[in-house]
Amino acid sequence: MFKRLPFLSGALVLLTLQAGAQSTAGDYAGTITPENLRKHLTVIAHDSLEGRATGSPGQKKAAEYVASYYRQYGLKPAAADASGKPGFFQVYNLYRGAWESAHIRKGRQLYELNRDFYIDGLANMPEDESLTTIFAGYGISEGSYNDYENLDVRNKAVVVFEGEPGSGNGNYLLSGSTEPSKWGRARAWEEKARLALSKGARTIIIISSQNAQGFEKEIQRRASMAPRVRRLSLRQEEAPARNLAAFTVGEAAAASLLGIREKKLKKLKAKTDKGSSSWKKHIGDDITIMAKRQSEVVPTENVAALLEGTDKKDEIVVISAHLDHIGISPDGQINNGADDDGTGTVALLELAEAFSKAKAEGKGPRRSILFLNVTGEEMGLLGSEFYSENPLFPSENHVANLNIDMIGRVDDAHKDNPDYVYLIGSDKLSSELHAISENANQKYVNLTLDYTFNHPDDPNRFYYRSDHYNFAKKGIPVIFYFTGVHEDYHRPGDDVEKILFDRQARIVKLIFHTAWELANRGERIKVDSNKP
Ligand SMILES: [Zn+2]
Repeated sequence: MFKRLPFLSGALVLLTLQAGAQSTAGDYAGTITPENLRKHLTVIAHDSLEGRATGSPGQKKAAEYVASYYRQYGLKPAAADASGKPGFFQVYNLYRGAWESAHIRKGRQLYELNRDFYIDGLANMPEDESLTTIFAGYGISEGSYNDYENLDVRNKAVVVFEGEPGSGNGNYLLSGSTEPSKWGRARAWEEKARLALSKGARTIIIISSQNAQGFEKEIQRRASMAPRVRRLSLRQEEAPARNLAAFTVGEAAAASLLGIREKKLKKLKAKTDKGSSSWKKHIGDDITIMAKRQSEVVPTENVAALLEGTDKKDEIVVISAHLDHIGISPDGQINNGADDDGTGTVALLELAEAFSKAKAEGKGPRRSILFLNVTGEEMGLLGSEFYSENPLFPSENHVANLNIDMIGRVDDAHKDNPDYVYLIGSDKLSSELHAISENANQKYVNLTLDYTFNHPDDPNRFYYRSDHYNFAKKGIPVIFYFTGVHEDYHRPGDDVEKILFDRQARIVKLIFHTAWELANRGERIKVDSNKP
């Protein structure tokens, strides 16, 4: 036994030396690796998460995934569930305006939304309204061409053809060329609805220019697309102030609503196309119509995990990224959002691991670090707005926010030098924050820090466009880390295989060292400026 003592003491010395070496931040940053980033991103940006649209099952899977690692790293749940039990999810509700029901009735005939017609825009007609229809050609008034001439459409439902009249030789009457005028373009319904309302009409019904089969397909396409394209909001939709909406029906329904035969409608079309006004007498009939909105509730969750500090644990450094992406495109393609913002999401996991390892070895930060994965970003920074309005810790205790959104690709400006990162916001509220960031880069990482987008005159205005701004608004200094947009931005091609993991790891290390200093320095950084 004794004989082995020299060896043992030698081992002890070695251990002590190692422990001493590990007291530097640099060694903990070593746990941040390209391999780990890739491992996590392969899950987060997998097709099975279906593009992580806010509130979708895929977004919730992503939330479960990051929470499971925070749990594994021993982080504290920073939020609470409905019963007050601590949890990693800060659950909040978003709202999506949708049609509760809408129909048009003519005698015993009932026409229903998503079966017989579709609606563009927002109408406020929650109760059945008895109206008289009135045919008004194409519903156009421009220059000497006026479909409303001698028509009294007040308080009526104007019925018009979709599109615009041709001039017979392949050109459009109004433009005199093959170029459609504003009345024939994609969102022409709005022009026509505005004009009808300005003439005193109650609402407008548009007769689709498609044949019965094409129209049926269009109705189906819109019905299936609607939940994907409708905006989410933190607030319930208010009743629309006016009826800026158009009901688009097929020819058979239109004829019925006007009280004429379909054959006559076809004749009317031919006459209208010739610019004839011989139809200009009241063609119409009595109908009832209603369209009622409701707010659908879409529950979602920010993920909030706390690495508790030591002697200054009430002060919080927030590191954030957004968990959500844009989901599935109307054409069915999945937008995996590997860069946007899979790269930020997995960066948080690596940062959490590095700091928790330091803490486990007695080198935990003095201030607390909050890892915050927000949702609703792609719908207008909603998750970070919710957090900033409902912070899990007193707002004034938030020392800084380091926000990461897209750090995996190279933009056109850096094709020849991919070792860069755009920093935005670092000097806006705190000169100390900027100095800490610069210093961390010089000492550990040596990336080119590009401040192009930090310039107040930069037209992109990125300082105002990601989640950090909801912290900056509250006077909390921020740095936004970003490597710029690219050809796959918000497209199905934003995939894992295009991510530069080596360079990403260096950016994550820069963030680690910056956060380390923010969390460990004696004095909390000061807010000493407010630059635009
Ligand atoms: Zn993003």
